[in-house]
Amino acid sequence: MKRTVSVPVKLPHERFLPLMGFCADIFNQHVDWALKERTWNKNKAHKALYADLRLQYPDVPSALLQTIRDNAMEAVKATKFKRTPRKKPTSGLRYDKRTMTLRGYQLTLSCIGKREKLILNVPEHFKEVFENWEFCAATLTYSKHNKQFWVRLVFEAETPKVQNGNAQGIDRGLYHLATTSDGQFFSSNKVRATQRRYLYNRRKLQQKGTRSAKRRLRAMSGREKRFMRDVNHCATKKLARQSDYTVFVLQDLSGIRTQRRGKELNKWLSSWSFYQFEQFLSYKAEALGKRVVFVDARYTSQKCSRCGHRSSANRKKSRFRCGSCGYTAHADINAAVNVRDNYILSLAQIETGEQGSVNAPYGSGTLGSQSQAASPCGCG
Ligand SMILES: [Zn+2]
Repeated sequence: MKRTVSVPVKLPHERFLPLMGFCADIFNQHVDWALKERTWNKNKAHKALYADLRLQYPDVPSALLQTIRDNAMEAVKATKFKRTPRKKPTSGLRYDKRTMTLRGYQLTLSCIGKREKLILNVPEHFKEVFENWEFCAATLTYSKHNKQFWVRLVFEAETPKVQNGNAQGIDRGLYHLATTSDGQFFSSNKVRATQRRYLYNRRKLQQKGTRSAKRRLRAMSGREKRFMRDVNHCATKKLARQSDYTVFVLQDLSGIRTQRRGKELNKWLSSWSFYQFEQFLSYKAEALGKRVVFVDARYTSQKCSRCGHRSSANRKKSRFRCGSCGYTAHADINAAVNVRDNYILSLAQIETGEQGSVNAPYGSGTLGSQSQAASPCGCG
């Protein structure tokens, strides 16, 4: 399994911006050559271009040149000559073990002339990964709008074996970030209050429309993102670490947006922070040998978790009262129990060989691999 962490870094612009420009050009020259020769062979590329490029860019370290060559050939291979991969002067620059070293928190980067040394300011929740995982590669990026360099570091560790154990259902909604089938609430009162405040301030600034208002809008969006990321980190960490559970069952909400729901709920379901929760929980669970599975979300809020009676009249806001057996519960807990039971039911159906179950779960395998690409830090 892999983890990515993005860290802002202070680098001399006058050294690194020209370097990124040169590297983009070297990359593009390789791509042009590869498309003309119809090959992505690295050795052939080296023979054809290396000597020339050394003359053209005598200051670019040769190890970096080789990394870019490999990078360009892989990009051509991935697109199978159908597109022309291109790099701009401010595109990300890939570093590997030939061109960078990482010792503790000290990072050394190849550049024109001598290497650049710097100490990384690593976020608290990533220190464990830094200390115990193996470092494999890094990308240097530059964001033009705030003139800031970033390094995105990739770490790798062996995936622990999946444990067997109890399943916990998790219901997710507007009023609670998450509710578990054993009755724990992860409240979003504070989240909602904060989001409302941001929305109010955003509208006011948008109406103004001045340059300083735009700058403040950007700063605010960054703060809001960091706030939500922190909320998601805390909740998913607590959930993943519970010793009683090894399987976390979530509702598959991907199809639900098209149904007729409240405008506010639809907006929340399609928000990045809602998706971020799933990603965080998946990768934190994976690291502990646990997993996240998804089940069909239909009727989980309307069905009685005790007798199975299904009616939209069962639920009134946060209160659930079964019209058939009279069972009462908090509506979100009832839903979370249904989510868990859908998973357990589907396991039983798999065991008895029943086909075509609507509630068949699917693992977090695809999510797990995505978590490599998406930075858990959210700032890539
Ligand atoms: Zn009932």
